[in-house]
Amino acid sequence: MTDGSLRGFLERLGFKRVEGEVDPLYGVTRLLATGEGPLVFKVQGSPIECAGNVVASREAVLKALSASSDVEAYEKLLKSMSSPAPLKISGTPRLKKAPRGLYDSPAVKFYEGDGGPYLTSAIFVACWKGVCNASIHRVMVVGEREGRVRVVPRHLWRLYRDAVSEGSDLPVTVVLGVHPAILLASASSPRLGIFEFEVASTLLGGLEAFESPVHGNPVPMGAGVLIEGWLTKESAPEGPFVDATGTLDVVRDQPILKVKAVYYDPDQVSHVILPAGREHAMLMGFPREAQIWATVSRVVPKVHAVRLTPASGGWLHAVISIEKSHDGDAKNAIMAAFAGHPSLKHVVIVDPDIDVDDPRDVEWAIATRFQADRDLVIIRNARGSTLDPSAPTGLTTKLGIDATKPLGREAEYEKATRIPGQGVIKVR
Ligand code: MN
Repeated sequence: MTDGSLRGFLERLGFKRVEGEVDPLYGVTRLLATGEGPLVFKVQGSPIECAGNVVASREAVLKALSASSDVEAYEKLLKSMSSPAPLKISGTPRLKKAPRGLYDSPAVKFYEGDGGPYLTSAIFVACWKGVCNASIHRVMVVGEREGRVRVVPRHLWRLYRDAVSEGSDLPVTVVLGVHPAILLASASSPRLGIFEFEVASTLLGGLEAFESPVHGNPVPMGAGVLIEGWLTKESAPEGPFVDATGTLDVVRDQPILKVKAVYYDPDQVSHVILPAGREHAMLMGFPREAQIWATVSRVVPKVHAVRLTPASGGWLHAVISIEKSHDGDAKNAIMAAFAGHPSLKHVVIVDPDIDVDDPRDVEWAIATRFQADRDLVIIRNARGSTLDPSAPTGLTTKLGIDATKPLGREAEYEKATRIPGQGVIKVR
């Protein structure tokens, strides 16, 4: 049983405290862009401490899930999605009201092109007609009590649409600063009706929660910031915003968040995720790697490793190393990968001797093991990611590269930069 606090996790993981106060106008960007972490710092004007670069590495993600390998973490995530555990509801912690509302959360302007200061680690909790959902959404802050929320057409959108169709605003409780296992659960997509906090409860071996002061929505004990409000019927322009790909996501009309009150726990910390940074890519990508691992594992003898690459925002490109028993296995792996992660655009399938974390090794495999006329898969007009500026309509062309060596001719394809006693040496 754990209280789900980010502070508790940071104390176990270790962190560095930054002296002084950080400017919410680009100062946080400069700090987090160093990649150093985890960091705990104070943003100018905000009453609560803040953490950043918490799960900016694969090792930190594994620690958050108490796993010793990627595959163990994938299996844990997948299993917990089908075996949610009830929350243990206890008394409300000592909360204070934030005097400057949403700005205190804290709201940060990251890049020149952003439409305003943003909250980037906000988990929206909504319960409507007995169905509870938790998911991460960016919030553009336009006033102490008003934000605009990017709601992609997934679960929160369905609850919102149902509420609005009955003439009601959707009550929401927004939570910032929680154990990263709760963020990972909220970034995964169990079917509608499975509450992501109960998935986190399984991941953490039990999760304590309390009822939020206004709506009575379940909130993990130890949360840093809690915002009570409504996703209203009204919409207004949201964006631009530099998203995971490092490009500007366009301005869209999105629901207005009306805030009743912002609370913080002075003993806890809030969380800022640097858009397009490593933590952003890990949190978005890792749960999708788990899905890809599951679908590809069904069609090939063994999946060695799955990587949603950092340069693609942990979202658009995958490299997957497999063991095959048939030359067609790599093509099936390509199809299964697209099924496992519908936003995936390009995928490269490699053999187990290729280091999926080394783009040079992957390129070498393409250079020496791939022939475009027989090893390329192109799927036109498939549903893609709205984050990709080259596919503005949402229709995209998917591409799969089979860069595995043909069975039976391994000797011609093996890494031959070897010398006695040292095996294969890196010469490039
Ligand atoms: Mn959901």
